[in-house]
Amino acid sequence: MRVSQLYAPTLRETPAEAEVVSHQLMLRAGMIRKAAGGVYTYLPLAWKVLKKIEAIVREEMDAKGGQELLMPIIQPAEMWQETGRWDVYGEEMFRLRDRHSRNFCLGPTHEEMITTLVRSDVRSYRQLPLLLYQIQNKYRDEIRPRFGLMRGREFIMKDLYSFDRDEAGLDESYNKMYDAYSRIFSRCGLEFRPVEADSGAIGGSGSHEFMVIADSGEAAIAFCSACDYAANVEKAELQAIEVEADGTAVLPLERVATPNMKSIKEVTRFLGMDATRIIKTIAYQTDKGPVLALVRGDHEVNEIKLKNKLDCLYLELANEAVIAEVLESCAGFLGPVKAQNVTVVADHTVMLMRDAVCGANSQDVHYLHVQPQRDIQPAIVADIRLIQENDPCPRCGAPVKTARGIEVGQVFKLHTKYSQALNAVYLDENGKEAPMVMGCYGVGVSRTMAAAIEQNHDENGIIWPVPIAPYQVIVVPVNAKDAAQMALAEKIYGELSAAGVETILDDRNERPGVKFKDADLIGYPLRVIIGPKTLQEGKVEVKVRRSGEIEFFAIEQCSGKVK
Ligand code: ATP
Ligand code: MG
Ligand code: MG
Ligand code: MG
Repeated sequence: MRVSQLYAPTLRETPAEAEVVSHQLMLRAGMIRKAAGGVYTYLPLAWKVLKKIEAIVREEMDAKGGQELLMPIIQPAEMWQETGRWDVYGEEMFRLRDRHSRNFCLGPTHEEMITTLVRSDVRSYRQLPLLLYQIQNKYRDEIRPRFGLMRGREFIMKDLYSFDRDEAGLDESYNKMYDAYSRIFSRCGLEFRPVEADSGAIGGSGSHEFMVIADSGEAAIAFCSACDYAANVEKAELQAIEVEADGTAVLPLERVATPNMKSIKEVTRFLGMDATRIIKTIAYQTDKGPVLALVRGDHEVNEIKLKNKLDCLYLELANEAVIAEVLESCAGFLGPVKAQNVTVVADHTVMLMRDAVCGANSQDVHYLHVQPQRDIQPAIVADIRLIQENDPCPRCGAPVKTARGIEVGQVFKLHTKYSQALNAVYLDENGKEAPMVMGCYGVGVSRTMAAAIEQNHDENGIIWPVPIAPYQVIVVPVNAKDAAQMALAEKIYGELSAAGVETILDDRNERPGVKFKDADLIGYPLRVIIGPKTLQEGKVEVKVRRSGEIEFFAIEQCSGKVK
């Protein structure tokens, strides 16, 4: 490839809409362009990188016995209604109707589709296990599409589904995929960690997320310095709040079961909130019914109406002085209120139960906004404290370390959740019918590309890990008008290409500074520079993008060394 022909319109300025480095650099390097919020065109350089990641994913899936297929993006509503997810999935699902008013969605994931497929064709235990996968666009109408490819509304995912006879088979498939995922992200040249995860909306139990370590990661992870414990902090939190404190109602959010919300992650996802920023959760009864309040670190409160019946949870005020202050301030218009009927709902908001005062309906609830002289310390029902650096490891007690991570993949044990809902059964050795035991395993292919940049860049641009670089080497003649330089550049470019090194030649009539800046921005791992000195001294300068190290090789040795 020649740079003069490459469709990679680079930008000098950082586009204002891009908040994270990968988004900024992919725009600047002419790799992606936005079509709509969370929807992007991949230009040739990006597409090359994506194909490399896909190739690695394919090889590792195939090595474990995975078989590739391709399912439709358009999925009929009926199969989603069978599992109940048509209602549960909520607004994140892109829905559409055909001309006959039949309902469809654009696949956010494919458990329904694949289980429906397999149930109609697989009858016998002899046909199991099956590992089926595809690499395809997925559609999720994310409430906040942002960070470029990190959280798109259309994105590329590899999804594999395993079908086994029993739990032992599932364990085996799961371990295979866990191993394959570790190999995939190592082969991509990324620093990553598998962590224990909460299985969220997909359901089932037993799950790991694969996290690329990067400061910009949305997830907080904790890992032990002594044993192999590593978890998504959200998961660690959920475990922590399941402890019931005596007297005070502690609310494990997982138990706030509403038809549409399963866990704190689902609740927060539903609201477009970052679960890691919620510092407390409070449930209480209002005249509108039970309500769950999520209080964020910046003290913004989101109230969610709960569909289930929920008994009022009394909170204890942490601070006697505050109680007195609140009682005093409301006595004037409500009459005397007993302390146990006062509840701090959130900072500066107090809920009063009037029933004890005037014998009114216990649903008769008043809110009072108080502006105290000093900060109120609200009573905390569920204190969702993030695991912090040096907290004791839940497994062995040694101090944990923390890091930020980008979720690039996740493996789940689904057990029989979908096979039961969709009646995907087989006949075992004794002719007895049994549900297939399933797992599902996703890699965010386009997110992996973005994560690679988040982890590998400097102030000048991207630094591609060699295995996923769009080209491994760029050959730059300093002066393209100099025939001798150009001829030598062509020669080295030809030799490298012939040796199977993916090479690009910057044949543009540009100043060297411009060429070097573009090469750094796009992030080719090696730059071969051919200048006046090369011709005089017979030495080619080779610069390593990552380290900035420069080495000189004799012209005739160059291709051999670079290769
Ligand atoms: P997140 O927690 O970031 O919303 P998820 O847990 O909903 O992701 P999964 O259902 O586990 O995602 O999907 C498998 C993989 O697909 C994820 O690990 C991630 O790499 C990728 N992925 C999910 N949502 C997006 C998205 N909106 N944009 C790009 N990649 C995504
Ligand atoms: Mg999601
Ligand atoms: Mg997730
Ligand atoms: Mg996930």
